[in-house]
Amino acid sequence: EDKIQTSLERLRKEQIEFLYMQFTDILGRVKTLTLPKNRFEDALNEGVVFDGSSVAGYAQIEESDMRAVPDLDTYAVYPYSSQGNAARYLCNIYNPDGTRFPGDPRYVLERNLKKVWDRGMEFYVGPEFEFFIFKKNEHGDPIPEPSDHSGYFDHTPNDRAAQVRLEILTQLRVLGYEPEAAHHEVSFGQHEIDLRYSNAMLMADRITVLKSVIKNAAENQNLFASFMPKPLNGLNGSGMHIHQSLMGKDQKKNFFYDEKDKYGLSKLAKNYTAGILKNINQGSAILASTVNSYKRLIPGYEAPVYISWANKNRSALIRVPAGVNMRKRIELRCPDPAGNPYLQFATVLGMGMDGVENEYELPEPTEKDIFHMDAEMRRKEGIESMPESLGEAIHHLKGSKLMEQILGKHVYHNYLTVKQKEWDAFRSHVTEWELNRYLGTL
Ligand code: GLN
Ligand code: MG
Ligand code: MG
Ligand code: MG
Repeated sequence: EDKIQTSLERLRKEQIEFLYMQFTDILGRVKTLTLPKNRFEDALNEGVVFDGSSVAGYAQIEESDMRAVPDLDTYAVYPYSSQGNAARYLCNIYNPDGTRFPGDPRYVLERNLKKVWDRGMEFYVGPEFEFFIFKKNEHGDPIPEPSDHSGYFDHTPNDRAAQVRLEILTQLRVLGYEPEAAHHEVSFGQHEIDLRYSNAMLMADRITVLKSVIKNAAENQNLFASFMPKPLNGLNGSGMHIHQSLMGKDQKKNFFYDEKDKYGLSKLAKNYTAGILKNINQGSAILASTVNSYKRLIPGYEAPVYISWANKNRSALIRVPAGVNMRKRIELRCPDPAGNPYLQFATVLGMGMDGVENEYELPEPTEKDIFHMDAEMRRKEGIESMPESLGEAIHHLKGSKLMEQILGKHVYHNYLTVKQKEWDAFRSHVTEWELNRYLGTL
């Protein structure tokens, strides 16, 4: 009650004309219902009713009248509005009978966070967000031509992409998102934005806005930002490395840190890391979620391929950066920015906690450069590969009790259906590569 009044007051004070009621579909696409001023009070009190049957992964024809109820803590003024001030709330989704809708990705993360919260811990994440900026053709459609030909950490203050990065940083600061840094990445036209680590729900909520800030900032320079993981042959793809730790509720203790350990890792952190390594195949279709994701996960492009961990070696799937105290964390490198951040964070946490519950033992780190080992050497070292395709990842997801438990039955089964369709569409399509390779020679 009180909170609703304070929120309405804020909307008035900040002269908000439009309210975006937002949630994500199973693929992580942000869905928005725009409300004019006269609906604010109703919407904050009761939420808004919408037809859920056309939202990807929501489909439940019998009960398609869903209710989106704003989470009043997620208020953010939207930076790009041409028609008067706009603000957004992220919504929780309810069934007609007033129960929580199990297909809501935000609810999936909430459930998984609550499990560690009940054990006195809070899950913190820090994503490194990579993306490409492309040119557009005369019709305004994006073309796979990078907007610049610079490389890692290059500084070309006057080019349009550098302007895009500055605008992103400015907008994120206005939003209060604590951006840490922005820089040019290795590939032509590739960039990275790092946000300061925060609790996983706050971070997933912020990523929904971050993505639209990036898109809009590029648009303002007549360019196009893409989160496609591997758009260009022969060049690095875009990842979303996820730095993770479990902290005390007062944020004064980092349960991942043990100064006496030679890696600075607590037993909890080691069991957690072992859990991710053991379960990574089952969760892969959520973390690297598109057909294209698996074209990034190949040797030679700073993306992981083999299931291993290391302190320094960046070819490993999990790296343990050198930080101490609150900064001790593990970095998982296979996720990419094309996925649903709510499901991605829930998945990494669930895989890790499985290792904690079962006290999986962490093997010794692999500091050798795995990419230069041949298959025989890797076999001797006991190093396995991650899935090579979305099809293989789906195969591992199918029948995973752990993933069914992390995602809940509803999301688990709908996700499999949606992704199987995507994979079937791809594998039945004859590509240009095949025509070039076979048509003239066979
Ligand atoms: N772009 C690389 C990837 O796909 C990472 C490069 C880096 O951040 N050093 O994960
Ligand atoms: Mg980085
Ligand atoms: Mg990077
Ligand atoms: Mg990194």
